[in-house]
Amino acid sequence: MNNCVLSNQQQLIIPSQGEKNIQIGLTTRQFGDCRIENSEHDLKIDQLMRIFQADECVRMVPNHKPKIMLSLVLESDKIKTANCDGIIHFKPKQPEFVSLIHCGWKTIAENIVEKAVKNILHWCPISSRDIKAIIYGGICQSCYGVEFGVAEQFQLEYSDCLQAGGEKGKYQLNLSKLIQKKLLSKGINRANIRIIDICSHHHSFKHINASYRYIWDDDSLLFSHRRGEPERNLVLVKLKNDPTLIAGTTGNCPYLILYNT
Ligand SMILES: [Zn+2]
Repeated sequence: MNNCVLSNQQQLIIPSQGEKNIQIGLTTRQFGDCRIENSEHDLKIDQLMRIFQADECVRMVPNHKPKIMLSLVLESDKIKTANCDGIIHFKPKQPEFVSLIHCGWKTIAENIVEKAVKNILHWCPISSRDIKAIIYGGICQSCYGVEFGVAEQFQLEYSDCLQAGGEKGKYQLNLSKLIQKKLLSKGINRANIRIIDICSHHHSFKHINASYRYIWDDDSLLFSHRRGEPERNLVLVKLKNDPTLIAGTTGNCPYLILYNT
């Protein structure tokens, strides 16, 4: 997918691919900056809660540490804020759950994917074969050049997720493949893993202005930390029959959604 077409209203992407009882989304540049520091933050979350028909939102603010929290322990409020890189939302002893995991290279190296699966199997009465996964890949391998210090974290076990880069001593790291391999090693069924290849750095979109029929080709779809932009996008997920929307900020980092419905 090189371009996706957005209508004037459509500020969220990621259509369902037959996933049942789950809604997912990604805000775009058109929707605007979703950092928690933005003065319009709560208004934007309210707007998203209306779109997703949610009564409350768990707003995850990642800090690149492999800390995972349960939504049950958060104070009740319409917008709950959690400083962590993973949220698991479930009801005790029920097989249904959803989780949102922020996967930067640091948290992946610190085994956040494995920790998430282990926690889910501890709290929900299911087996790893029941877990479904959606990987939003964030920045793609071609756009993600890293130094040796990053590459060496993965070169022994995950060398097929690395390629030599254009410059000497540079590597290109495939984050979504890394996450997928870690899921497979924890017994997640390959057929239950969907990868969404929308690169936060290079994908652009055609903006169609209904009144004037102008088309601009070269607008970037998402905010990108690699472009030096401070603004952020949101990854969103909600179980259809549950009132809680879960949202996490991203500038380039992938997210992993694990769920069972
Ligand atoms: Zn890219």
